[in-house]
Parts: sequence; structure tokens; C-alpha cells
Amino acid sequence: MLKFFNRLSKKKEEFIPYNKDIVTMYSCGPTVYSYQHIGNLRAYVFMDLIRRILKHHNYKINGAMNITDVGHLTSDEDEGEDKMLLASKKEHKSPYEIAKFYANLFFEDIKKLNIELPEHVLKATDHIQDMIDYVKKLLEHGYAYETSRGIYFDVQKFKDYGRLSGIELKDRKAGARIEVDNEKKHPADFALWIKAPKEHIMQWESPWGMGYPGWHIECSVMGQKYLGEHIDIHTGGIDHVTVHHENEIAQNDSLCGHQVVKFWMELEFLQIDGGKMSKSLGNIYTLSDLEKRGFSAMDYRYFLLTAHYLKMQNFTFEALEGAKSALANLYKLAKKHKMAEKKDENLSNYIKRFYDAFDDDLNSPLALGVVWELIKKEPNYAIYECLLEFDNLLGLNIEEKSNEDVVQIPHEVLRLAQDRWNAKQNKNYALADELRKQITSLGYVVKDSKNDFIIEKI
Ligand code: AMP
Ligand code: ZN
Repeated sequence: MLKFFNRLSKKKEEFIPYNKDIVTMYSCGPTVYSYQHIGNLRAYVFMDLIRRILKHHNYKINGAMNITDVGHLTSDEDEGEDKMLLASKKEHKSPYEIAKFYANLFFEDIKKLNIELPEHVLKATDHIQDMIDYVKKLLEHGYAYETSRGIYFDVQKFKDYGRLSGIELKDRKAGARIEVDNEKKHPADFALWIKAPKEHIMQWESPWGMGYPGWHIECSVMGQKYLGEHIDIHTGGIDHVTVHHENEIAQNDSLCGHQVVKFWMELEFLQIDGGKMSKSLGNIYTLSDLEKRGFSAMDYRYFLLTAHYLKMQNFTFEALEGAKSALANLYKLAKKHKMAEKKDENLSNYIKRFYDAFDDDLNSPLALGVVWELIKKEPNYAIYECLLEFDNLLGLNIEEKSNEDVVQIPHEVLRLAQDRWNAKQNKNYALADELRKQITSLGYVVKDSKNDFIIEKI
């Protein structure tokens, strides 16, 4: 029986979709003003695991994900500047160029991590008119009002506001995080449409003058346009629970007159070295940062699978190193089974426990434990076949990797090569030369291209 933790009911529930043949699923996607870091990528591996277990249960999926390229302000509570515009000023490029650049990098990472994209990947700027129409309807039905700054959702008109996070309206006061705006009827009222000053680069005509959409509206609009008024699963990060998802629920359910999303599923954050990732600490890593240090996207995917999505996961390079060597070992053992005779052996107990673990709210660490028990058995081709089946859920390229003769570059060499590259970027050529010598003495050579380097065995 497939079960997911539903944050709305705070319980693990049997997953029964609205329509038994096709599951509708919406995932909050990236804001493409910068690189997606490895924490963000945890959110999409999580989305991918849900899709894989649904497919294992023979469901068809109609999925949608937004690409936020307008309207996400520096604070989720509608304060500050649009993140796209800030990036545009910093990088001297148009917001559209910024969005295209970072969205493409995001798609590359997604591919490397074996994440299947949803059926609809949707840019907010392609749906401005749909958003205007939606806001008009909210106004007509009395759920929104106009101020000199824009159109706001009237949270007091939605009786269930706060059900997901458990934070009631009376406890949402204006303060440090919510700026006092005297025109707002309640501090938690949020912008659906923002009137733009003349110099604002991204703005569109609307019945309320030139402006741009608030951030929360795009997910309701695109969700309903592509998936309908009944959405089985909605995913996103834990940071979305208190504001963004509450606001989506308010928009959806008040306009449709019924509960739109059945399962709200938000994953816990990835931490770095036991703390928050932040620019000032210099500890925000991207997938390509990991690759430069000699880790593959699959090493990172394996690392993610070792923790349950509802648990905060702590990233350290030591832990990633552990994941890397475990995965290399897994490939090696898989190959041993591949080369073996097929023996008649009852593996049903392993198979059952593996799928039961995934069925039980995506318990990937438990499932990996079963893989290890199985893989350590006497070589048997039947085990290899079983591993390939499991890999439909794990997504670790077991088939491809068990065909390869893996040349492992020692970690010390990878580190030296990265240090040498950094030295060269900093024009410290003496140090770069010294490091090159050390690399050569270990039997490897580094070759530079314009933006990167490769390491070869001499
Ligand atoms: P953003 O590009 O900021 O809109 O975030 C994209 C997705 O990544 C959202 O679903 C966030 O909730 C999620 N997210 C952001 N930071 C982390 C983190 N450290 N760990 C896991 N998910 C995250
Ligand atoms: Zn969203």
C-alpha cells in the first residue's frame, strides 16, 4: 500500500488519487535569478522519487512545475525587490537573459541527476494574462481588494488560512518580517498584482495599470490551467509551508470553492556542516562545484537517498566521500552479479522489503539497506536483474555503470588539481606550477581548457 505523509492532515495516509488512472502533481520550481544550489536540487530529487514510485504503481502522471522568472521578491512576504531585477542589475543583462541562462543550467543539473522533468515546465512570464484573469475573478468574488500598491488577497475571507502551517491569523502580526502597510486589511494579506513604478523593467498592462504579478499567484494559475481543479500532490521545500503554500491554498480553494490539493508534501532542508547555507559563509555549493572536486551527480544522488526527505540532511564533504565510495562499491558488486551464472534463489523477501520501504512514504535509506543485504550475497545473475528493477526507483545508473571499467582518480589528485586551478585563477602561477609537479609525481596530468580542466592518467 502506497503511503505519503500529508502535511495538511499531519498523518501518513494511503495515497488514493482523485482519478484512479492519472495522478496530477504540481511542484514548486526554481527562481531562475541565480544558480540552483545542492539544497534546491534535493527538492527535485524528492519530486523525482515520488514520480518513480507512482510509475511503479502503474499510474500515469500529469505533472507541472513552474519556472519563476518574475515576481519573487527578496522576502516571501512581498517586501524588497524582485530577485530577477536585482540579478539583472548586478550582471548587466536583461531579466530574460538571466532567466534563460540559469534555467538552462538548472536543466543540465536535472539531467545529470537522472531527474525526469514533469510533463509541463512553465515560465511565469508566459502566463501573465492567465494571472490577470485569475486576479480579476478573485476580485469579482470578493476575495481581493485594491490599494495604491496593488491588488491584495484578503486572508480574513478565507476561513482555513493557516491550516497547513498551524499558524493562525491572530498570530501573524506585522513585525520584523511583515512590513506595516496601512492600506492592507491584515498584515498577512499578500500581493496578487503589484503596481509598477515607471523604471521597473518587467511590467505588463492590466486593468489596474502597468504592473507585474505577485509570486504566489503563478503556482495557483498554472496548476489549475494544466492540471485542473483537483491536484493530487503538491511538492516544495519546507520554507514554503508558512507563506507560499498557505497563500496558494487560499487562492485555490476560495476560487474553486473546494479543496484543490489533496497531499501537501514538503521536504526538509539540506544543511551544510550542521548549519544554514549562506553566501556570507561561502558554503553554497552547486552540482558543478561538487564535480570540480571529483564527485559525480550520481554520488550526490546516492548521498541524498541515504536520508529520508522529512529529516533535515547534513551535507559535509566527508559524508559525500562516504557516499562516493559506497556507490563505487555498489557498482563493483553489481558487476560481480552480472558476470555470474543465474541461480535459482528465492529473492522475494528482499524484493518485498525494498518496495515496502519505498511505499512507506519513500523510505529510501531503508530501501538502500535492503540493497546492501542483497548485493553482499553469493554472485548470482538473478540478483543483478533484481538490482536493475530496483534502479527504476533509485535512479543510480546501475546498468550503465556495471558496463564500465571505472578509472578512479584518487581524491588527493582531485584536490590538488582543484587547488591548482584556483591558484591559476588567482594568478599565483608559482603555486600552480608546484601543484602540477605534485600531480605529475602521483602519475596524473592536468590539461586546461578555457573554463575548466581535465585529469588524465599518465
Ligand atoms: P527557489 O529557487 O529559491 O524558489 O527554491 C527552489 C526549491 O528549493 C524550493 O522548493 C525550495 O523550497 C527548495 N529549497 C531551497 N533551499 C533548500 C535547501 N537548503 N534544502 C532543500 N530544499 C531547498
Ligand atoms: Zn509555488
